[in-house]
Amino acid sequence: MTPLVLLLDPLSADARPTEAELAATLRFVPSTEPILTAFDAGAGRGDGIFETLGAHDGFARGVDAHLQRLRASASKLDLPAPHDGQWRAAIAQVLAELPSEGQASIRLTMTRGTEAAGPTCWVTGTAITGDFPERTNGVRVVTLSRGYANDVGESAPWLLVGAKTLSYAINMAALREAHRRGADDVIFTSTDGFALEGPTSSLLVRHGSTIVTPAIQFGILAGTTQADLFSFLDAEGFSCEYRTIAVDELIQADAVWLVSSVRLAVPVTEVNATTISTDLGLTERMNAALLS
Ligand code: PLP
Repeated sequence: MTPLVLLLDPLSADARPTEAELAATLRFVPSTEPILTAFDAGAGRGDGIFETLGAHDGFARGVDAHLQRLRASASKLDLPAPHDGQWRAAIAQVLAELPSEGQASIRLTMTRGTEAAGPTCWVTGTAITGDFPERTNGVRVVTLSRGYANDVGESAPWLLVGAKTLSYAINMAALREAHRRGADDVIFTSTDGFALEGPTSSLLVRHGSTIVTPAIQFGILAGTTQADLFSFLDAEGFSCEYRTIAVDELIQADAVWLVSSVRLAVPVTEVNATTISTDLGLTERMNAALLS
């Protein structure tokens, strides 16, 4: 199936459109049709924000949480606040066109656009064929410095570390560096020795019956999958904590995962070429819970 593209003519956050007016702001376009000018700030500067949602058997996971994070990212970048009902309607329209069985990803994008026309906004839907073997086989990671200290979120908010911006060139470069080093993925570290997150995932670490993840004030993205998993793990009797995680803890942990909306929970099998413990039973239960 070819990917779906739905263009939004963005409404201001406080607009109260009728159903017909709302419908008129949403338009499917062929995925081969250009939708940006060469002067769009999203294309020229990576100046914009996005969200990627996972969908399964006709349901999108975490719509509220993703829209909340989109709003938070827009606010951090001084972009206009997204109209909640319009983005919800766009997600629903894309979902309705995706296969009703199997997995899919839905991506929301808002660029700063151009000064004359304002933001460019669209939603894509892509059906996922095949499995994610990493969910069972795991990934080998290397730790790579992100180049700043743990307090960067507070000391230099203009670096936008907690916003989901379109500027992912650094994240993709880190993944290529991991591949050059014979690994599959990355855990970013702060210059003061703490583990942060992956380039496209949050970090979870198990010590016995405690599961920890770095707190978001340490300059990481607030993960929606991590939040869902904390609810599940809490109900399973684990104690879930937000705190700093020293890089050395990764080797000593009972299990380490990278978690994200589409790939879900992936066990880390090696850190910097050292094999670490995994918990495949809990990984399976976490992924089953996310897909249920
Ligand atoms: N951290 C970063 C840098 C990410 O890019 C992502 C997702 O793409 C995540 C964490 C995980 O977020 P979520 O679980 O909401 O997909």
